[in-house]
Amino acid sequence: MTRTFLGMPATAPPGVGHLRGDEPFPAAARRGLADPQLRRNLRHATTTIRGKSGAVIAELPDWERLRAAGSAIKADVMARLPELLEQLEAAVVAAGGTVHWAADAVEANRIVTELVAATGSDRVIKVKSMATQEIGLNEALAAAGITAVETDLAELIVQLGEDRPSHILVPAIHRNRAEIREIFLRAMPGVDPGLTDEPAALAAAARRYLRQTFLTTPVAVSGANVAVAETGTLAVVESEGNGRMCLTLPETLITVMGVEKVVPTWRDLEVFLQLLPRASTGERMNPYTSMWTGVTPGDGPQNVHLVLLDNGRSAVLADEVGRQALHCIRCSACLNVCPVYERAGGHAYGSVYPGPIGAVLSPQLTGVADNASLPYASSLCGACYDACPVKINIPELLVHLRAQAPHPRAEATVMAAAAYTMDHPVLYAAAQRAARLTRFAGRRGRGLPPPLSGWTLGRDLPTPPPETFRDWWANR
Ligand code: SF4
Repeated sequence: MTRTFLGMPATAPPGVGHLRGDEPFPAAARRGLADPQLRRNLRHATTTIRGKSGAVIAELPDWERLRAAGSAIKADVMARLPELLEQLEAAVVAAGGTVHWAADAVEANRIVTELVAATGSDRVIKVKSMATQEIGLNEALAAAGITAVETDLAELIVQLGEDRPSHILVPAIHRNRAEIREIFLRAMPGVDPGLTDEPAALAAAARRYLRQTFLTTPVAVSGANVAVAETGTLAVVESEGNGRMCLTLPETLITVMGVEKVVPTWRDLEVFLQLLPRASTGERMNPYTSMWTGVTPGDGPQNVHLVLLDNGRSAVLADEVGRQALHCIRCSACLNVCPVYERAGGHAYGSVYPGPIGAVLSPQLTGVADNASLPYASSLCGACYDACPVKINIPELLVHLRAQAPHPRAEATVMAAAAYTMDHPVLYAAAQRAARLTRFAGRRGRGLPPPLSGWTLGRDLPTPPPETFRDWWANR
């Protein structure tokens, strides 16, 4: 197999940060399944987004061609990632920015913390960013005495509720408006005690709180949806305008971006800026698309930093099948169509990346052995593949990763015995005859006895046919 590394660092270590849960997926999913309120919230939200997204996608006769273009651009990026990153670095530096390379979450947190500390500020405002959630930046900043204020409404709800995000795009999807009102009353500084749970009232309360914070905080931290190698331009797309405030008002802007987000040319943006809003929020275009290229004297942030984050991505890139997961543009369409996600909820995945993409990305970033239950968090129905705007074949990846996951010794022994039997016709015929005896073991679905009972815990044992193909053939 061809091994491709970025050359940064010399080896490709696993990622660290918020990529693993404390317990395997089945145990964590059981809690979600037992919470009817959570399931109601999720069903309502995912059904609404699916409907909106489907309607605007149907408007585009060339949607499939756009998907193919997005997929091809991403495959090209992966094939020459080192070269594109160096081109990006040169362009950002030429435009007056500073580029930092972070091998993992620990290094990225150290870089950002030192940059903020150097400004003398003890507070930063944040644009919603999966990369900073992945590395646990807020906690690292807090340990250094720096407060991070999330400015995306849903992210703010999660932060004030001392909760964890459960959806890539709608982090508070598991909360309804009564719960949000209760969180605001409990944790939002200066909130009106007469606050109702009307969506407009809740949004106005958040706006009042955030406006003051925007105007008095000199440092912002963002992620980036895309970085253009040829120009050094970074782009953030969002719906609330909070991102635009963070990206333009402060004196210092620090962007943490996974290395896979680079695209070669400005022209490539036309593909992703069409795919992303329709697949994610069901909008024709993003309400706010902010782009910046280094520093413009007298206009916007005057200290611009870009932290390029690896954190396991080089190891993913080295797997020619697995690297598809790096094509992800974080639209969350796969979450919204996934029957497992809709029932178990995002927290069950343990990682900041939930749903189908989380089931294939997190185990690869950490090493499959460290997240071995996630590739099984799927029925392999294929809905995620159909929905993905960049055509990531998630079912193929799930099967690929299941083969890499450590298997219990008993299972490996049974599989080896089955392979040996199927390889020897006489043994196979004898096994078929023996299988017929299970007809007398009881009604269908009764299951196998221990130690094989785990296999039939969630599936019926099929009744063997009265006549095998071999018998049928021999009789003719
Ligand atoms: S895997 Fe595809 S559908 Fe899922 S979040 Fe990423 S781009 Fe969207």
